[in-house]
Amino acid sequence: MKIFFATLATETNTFSPIPTGYAGFTAQGYYRRDGSLGPTGHGNLALQEWRKLAEADGLHIVESMCAFAQPAGTTLRNVYEDYRDTILADLRAAHADASGPVDIVLLKMHGAMVAYGYDDCEGDLLAHARAIVGPHAVLGIELDLHCHLTETMRTAADVIITYKEYPHTDIGDRARELYALCLAAAQGKVKPVIAYYDCRSISMWRTPVEPVKSFVARMQALEGKDGILSVSFGHGFPWGDVAEVGAKIVVIADGDRAKAEALAAQLGAEIWAMREAASTQHDSVDEAIDHALAAGDGKPVVLAEVADNAGGGAPSDNTEILRRLVDRGVQRVAIGCFWDPVAVSFCQEAGLGSEFDLRIGGKCGVASGDPVDLTVTVMGLSDAHSQGGLSGGRAGFGPSAWVRANGIDIILVSERGQVFHQDAFTGLGCTLTDKAIVVVKSTQHFYAGFAPIAREVRYVATAGAIAPDYAAIPYTKRTTPYWPRVADPFATNQ
Ligand SMILES: [Zn+2]
Repeated sequence: MKIFFATLATETNTFSPIPTGYAGFTAQGYYRRDGSLGPTGHGNLALQEWRKLAEADGLHIVESMCAFAQPAGTTLRNVYEDYRDTILADLRAAHADASGPVDIVLLKMHGAMVAYGYDDCEGDLLAHARAIVGPHAVLGIELDLHCHLTETMRTAADVIITYKEYPHTDIGDRARELYALCLAAAQGKVKPVIAYYDCRSISMWRTPVEPVKSFVARMQALEGKDGILSVSFGHGFPWGDVAEVGAKIVVIADGDRAKAEALAAQLGAEIWAMREAASTQHDSVDEAIDHALAAGDGKPVVLAEVADNAGGGAPSDNTEILRRLVDRGVQRVAIGCFWDPVAVSFCQEAGLGSEFDLRIGGKCGVASGDPVDLTVTVMGLSDAHSQGGLSGGRAGFGPSAWVRANGIDIILVSERGQVFHQDAFTGLGCTLTDKAIVVVKSTQHFYAGFAPIAREVRYVATAGAIAPDYAAIPYTKRTTPYWPRVADPFATNQ
């Protein structure tokens, strides 16, 4: 049996001012046929799992390219077409060679990748792959849960599995499930059929806390019995202006579409019922600072600056919280990570221990706010700073600096990325447990890394690039109503 796999992934914020091109993909590690053999990173984790399993099962393995780009704006058309055509050429060659046709195609993609001319890169690639391998090969795809689940994907794929956890701690688990299900289908043991249910909702759902935590457990409890093969909840990615943006349930049943549709609708109703309870409460900047200061001594209060999350395509150089901290004279604070390669280069020039005037942040666009000018001391420098990545591995920040000004420790990086783990700070020498406030530019992926040292985690709304006001996102392509823009998108007069 022959298995083919590849990765092409990025999450596209169609409102972001940062174009996604070759440099965006190669910065995270581009592999031509050996991504599964590289050091573990966000992009190649699924390939590593698939290679291990396929080798253990004695399958004939054909690996194509692996490329993952930090979320940003729309991907350039020629870049997407080049990568797509590379994968398809490899697939065509593998399917036609003398060792026999491809039986299983596994793709790891994001699910919210948009290129100029292609609102649904995943659906486009799946449809082309299907045209090459025909109806008898099994076509499976693993997606981030922040995906746009499209009809093109549903009809082209045999199996679609999204992550269940946010933070995404289960990339490897879902990769193994996709492999097992596609192998069983290729062996004729199961006949997967996919049903969607459109939840008509656009929001964010945090899975480590209730009520979503129990919903994740319930999805898992439903799998593998009564003819249900897999259950996914695609949360959707709010900052993609595409027709099929929004949350959807995916149920895969064994040959019984009606059963899949019924369960999807039932689970969709559960998502609808928990919409208010699952919503994240956001503080204003002053509310968050007031709350943290009132908490007194002890563990730090962790403030998540969700609107400037690089992982959602934001620049990560918004200054709104830093400005208020400085103006209010708040001390014992750590804040990071500002994407500011110019400021980092100035710190490198100044050198460790030096004090000088530095302009920080506020550079990429209107949503970045105004820069903040401070007299800083360079406390730490690194030519290749990194932090623990999602589901293992390392995530690089490139040349980076830790500076201190007015009792505030500020992390500046050259490669844009959200905060995942404490070593985004401590890796440069900046301690956290002695702080009153730790501000992380991240929406949720920081949670597993920071909850252990946090007195409390609070979410802060600023006017950054991905402000959490889902009703106000200026969509031009979604035509059906959604909550929270309307109170009841299921009402017939909408
Ligand atoms: Zn995601």
